[in-house]
Amino acid sequence: MIVMKFGGTSVADAERIRGIAEIVRDRLDRRPLVVVSALGGVTDLLERAIVSACADDLEALEPVLANLERRHRWALAGCVEESRRHHHLSLEVDGVFEELRQKLRSVRVLRERTPRAADAILALGETLSAMIVETAFREMGIDAIGIDPREVLITDDRFGEAEPDLERTAERARKRVGDVLAEGAVPILGGFVGATPDGTTTTLGRGGSDTSAAVLGSILEAEEIQIWTDVDGLMSANPRLVPQARPIATVSFAEAAELAFYGAEVLHPDCLAPAVRRGIPVRVANSMRPENPGTVIVDGTEPAGDGAVVSVASRGGVTSLRVVNRRMRADPGFAAGVLGSLRSRDLSPDLVVASEIGVHLAIRDDPGCRSLQVELERYGRVEVRGDRAIVCVVGSGLSDGVARREAMEAVAEWEPELFALGSSGASLAAVVPAGRLSETVRGLHHRFFEGDGSR
Ligand code: ADP
Ligand code: ASP
Ligand code: MG
Repeated sequence: MIVMKFGGTSVADAERIRGIAEIVRDRLDRRPLVVVSALGGVTDLLERAIVSACADDLEALEPVLANLERRHRWALAGCVEESRRHHHLSLEVDGVFEELRQKLRSVRVLRERTPRAADAILALGETLSAMIVETAFREMGIDAIGIDPREVLITDDRFGEAEPDLERTAERARKRVGDVLAEGAVPILGGFVGATPDGTTTTLGRGGSDTSAAVLGSILEAEEIQIWTDVDGLMSANPRLVPQARPIATVSFAEAAELAFYGAEVLHPDCLAPAVRRGIPVRVANSMRPENPGTVIVDGTEPAGDGAVVSVASRGGVTSLRVVNRRMRADPGFAAGVLGSLRSRDLSPDLVVASEIGVHLAIRDDPGCRSLQVELERYGRVEVRGDRAIVCVVGSGLSDGVARREAMEAVAEWEPELFALGSSGASLAAVVPAGRLSETVRGLHHRFFEGDGSR
């Protein structure tokens, strides 16, 4: 079997949903399991609804709810015409909206966004999309059967970022999903959503549908895990920043992991581990251009491309912290103390350069940064710089000395404030002011991919 995951843009409206039905129909002989995200933008709208409900701001809440209803009714009307089916699905959708309103009412009463309540609300986006996709598939002649992800994807109770319990999920998935596949039907599940063993709804964190797909694919020993999205695969840079970015044919798991971690949101960083464990290839492909091969992520350490660098990843929303040890002498507990302070706040650094005299690190922006700074002042002078970004040059070929030196020189030209060779040997990451993110990424992309064959 294969797993086919369709992200928000791939199920954004009726036309796209019909498009993915065709993609699935063309691959029925590979026994697909389909995982869908909420319709594009819906999780953000649900999050906005929660914020407005918390503030008991009906004026803000009502238009968001109206927008959500409109989106789903349009999608439904545009891909399900047969009247009985249409009627049945409309009633189901009514039911979900009633549930949504009820849950938002309790948030309004409590005036509090608890992660547990938020998960119950956010999960409804995937519930709605899976319902619509299932019926649309049937309308197009596919024998599709919806499965509630909460009956299959069992997680811990870290609401908002729950982690799948692989053993329990395996037990459920083999039975529930296995039975549907054995009947020759196509199982359809909402991604991103799971439940604790006692059935309380959880979510896997933003972008988590990729993780649902990878977990199920690895448990069911899929032949391939396919991530269908709105670009032609993993690209040589974020195409929104670099219009000249081009798709990469093959990358290794190590390269893809660095790319995902350092900002290629096309792939959730947590989705690779389950696939790596079983050596299952992951393919990233474009649901608007299904004839294109996309990118295949495979096991292996050999540089896959024709150059040392495969991509320039980047992301904003970073703060850098420099702590200079007050004692200015060898102090073995210093770096450990600084990192321990991060850990106690559940923060993990994106990048660290440490010695006994100073620690310079980059972390994702977090409300805890301020109190962290206060605590770190115990160790020495602390300099905090917000509004930073990370740029990371990725490629297994960087393990080669000459290629590495060239790449280091290229990055150094952009005068990064912090600069480090990744321990995997496949990345070179640098921190720059957020305002210089685009030019740095474009410059490096030009240097590695747009030159006169220097790549
Ligand atoms: P989906 O809704 O399918 O999950 P996402 O929005 O999560 O899609 O991810 C796809 C987006 O990732 C692309 O539209 C692109 O802008 C962005 N992206 C960032 N870096 C890269 C990269 N290196 N390669 C491909 N896409 C990238
Ligand atoms: N719908 C969720 C989100 O927008 C999960 C996903 O799309 O992967 O984050
Ligand atoms: Mg995504």
